Order: sequence, then structure tokens, then C-alpha cells
Amino acid sequence: MHEGAIAVALIQDILEVREKENLSSLNTATVLIGRLHHVVPEVLQNHFGLLKKEYPPLVKTKLVIEIAPVAITCRKCGCETVIEKPEFSCSSCRSTDIEITGGREMHLKEIEGTKAQ
Ligand SMILES: [Zn+2]
Repeated sequence: MHEGAIAVALIQDILEVREKENLSSLNTATVLIGRLHHVVPEVLQNHFGLLKKEYPPLVKTKLVIEIAPVAITCRKCGCETVIEKPEFSCSSCRSTDIEITGGREMHLKEIEGTKAQ
């Protein structure tokens, strides 16, 4: 139910933005999710697709999922490395004294819709 819970939270966020921005309809919602959340985009799409039917303003909203890579910042030299494999060491000086600075994101990046008259 990981993706299901995320979909519920996303819908709440989207509705909040809709209210704030005074949008009548929403075309697309882009969400940025860090890779460390281990979200399966297809599963999240399915949950979103089912849930949005309960919210009239979201029925036509397309969800765009962007996965943010895992990034680490070296405490020794300050270099930032984007890692593909779970090798948590600095690409510049090989130090393992690092801090995870990317991959934990989870936020709405962009919402595209039509302003209410
Ligand atoms: Zn380094």
C-alpha cells in the first residue's frame, strides 16, 4: 500500500494547489519522487487513476512522475555525486564520509491547469 498512501497524499496536495491558484480544471500534475522511496511509477499511476475518479476536478488530470536520482555530497571535499549503484562513496576523492543529499524528494513540481473565470 506504499504507492496507495502516496497517491492519497498527492491528491490532497494537488487539490490544495488548485484552491490556492484558483484553477477550474487541471491538465497535468508533475510530481518529483526521489529514487530512495522505491516507488514503482506504474503502480502509482494505477492508484492515482482509481482515486482521482472520486474527485471531479481531477478526473482529466494526467499524472507525470519524475524520479529524482540518488545523490550524495562528500563531507571531505564537498563534491556531489549522483549514484546509480548503492556505492556510497565520493566519485572525486573516494571518501565514504558522505551525506545523502538527493533521492528523498517527494513534492509536486508543476501543475498545469485552467484559471477559473
Ligand atoms: Zn570527496
